[in-house]
Amino acid sequence: MIHDASFRARAEIDLAALRANVRALRARAPRAALMAVVKSDAYGHGMVPCAKAALAAGAQWLGTATPEEALALRAAGIGGRVLCWLWTPGGPWREAVEADLDVSVSGMWALREVTRAAAEAGRTARVQLKADTGLGRNGCQPADWAELVAAARAAEEAGTVRITGLWSHLACADDPGHPSVAAQLSLFRELVAYAEREGAAPEVRHIANSPAALTLPESHFDLVRTGVAVYGISPSPELGAPADFGLRPVMTLRASVALVKRVPAGHGVSYGHHYVTGGETVLGLVPMGYADGIPRHASGRGPVLVGGEWRRVAGRVAMDQFVVDLGPGGEPVEEGAEAVLFGSGDRGEPTAQDWADAADTIAYEIVTRIGARVPRVHLHEHEHEHGHGHDGGHGYGHDGGHGHGHDGVGGNDAMGAGIGAGMGLGAGTDEGVRVGTGAVTAPGG
Ligand SMILES: *Cc1c(COP(=O)(O)O)cnc(C)c1O
Repeated sequence: MIHDASFRARAEIDLAALRANVRALRARAPRAALMAVVKSDAYGHGMVPCAKAALAAGAQWLGTATPEEALALRAAGIGGRVLCWLWTPGGPWREAVEADLDVSVSGMWALREVTRAAAEAGRTARVQLKADTGLGRNGCQPADWAELVAAARAAEEAGTVRITGLWSHLACADDPGHPSVAAQLSLFRELVAYAEREGAAPEVRHIANSPAALTLPESHFDLVRTGVAVYGISPSPELGAPADFGLRPVMTLRASVALVKRVPAGHGVSYGHHYVTGGETVLGLVPMGYADGIPRHASGRGPVLVGGEWRRVAGRVAMDQFVVDLGPGGEPVEEGAEAVLFGSGDRGEPTAQDWADAADTIAYEIVTRIGARVPRVHLHEHEHEHGHGHDGGHGYGHDGGHGHGHDGVGGNDAMGAGIGAGMGLGAGTDEGVRVGTGAVTAPGG
């Protein structure tokens, strides 16, 4: 028997889908370089394997929020260009300079700290100046831009800094007709032109996030910074579904049903008894809760595919568990049956967007908040694994009649069997199965 936490719950990360998404995005922004944004553990998908897959598919840059995230990429052996943008005083500037990271500077305090770190390291820091063109969040105010540019140019002349980028971030790119979009683009052009007149010669000028990369070609400049779209999620359902942009969701969240039981009419279900059975029925227990990132706000609403049908969370989502009502004829569902909370939608399962709708939030938040207790199982880590089980012995998931992939062969049960074979018996895994934060746990690997 196989004992692995991933049989309670697991998030499968389809790296073949991620690579295809990166290619689709590059085709959408053909004149720009592509930065795959891998902050916050690659939006919950596992930073290092996702970063490697994005680079393999042609992403030229990686982007993170914090310097610690960027340094973790380096610690994992990932080279190339990495920009990190969320700094606070006393941050690891010296480490960042020595690790050849591109660092964002939004104010004079940050320029002073990075210049000092570069001087101490005897290196030239790669600095990207960020302007606030209207988002009202990070970035240098236009009124302060001249001072920041002058100081950065002086540091460049002194050899401590090289201005590698000029950049900004859009507030309403998911609403293409919003007047702020054109206003931000035109102010960005002005601020870039000013810095260039002052002698800055950036390698990249950039402002586009996923929605802008997908819908606003005039925003692409030299680079697009795509996050959510890399993971196959549409930045906004109003803009279109993932498939409308040639994207496919990368994460599938599954659990094993922990208990199936018949209960009488009038039985309260879960804390507070917000759900009461209308008649005699069969309940199924799904062993995931808000500690795993299942939003409590989706109590009574969140959709789950169990036994071939969509069910709704019955009553409250608890810390570790929730219940679904399988109906009076629910017994064909047994303990160990698969509950698919969300996935690509190709096999009839809900999507992260469906959970976002149920919890009044955005799909970004659904995938990003999946808890650390849920193992991430990375599938198709290498290009040659893209096949569908014809080469028995190549990589995880290709044995045991696995039915995952893009051709609709097989089904969810077959996928479960494939995982069992790959993880427990080590059958033919030459690349290994990556679970959690980077551990390779394939006995046969
Ligand atoms: C997160 C982030 C992105 C990526 O945004 P998506 O909408 O996920 O593509 C780009 N730029 C900055 C500054 C960000 O913080």
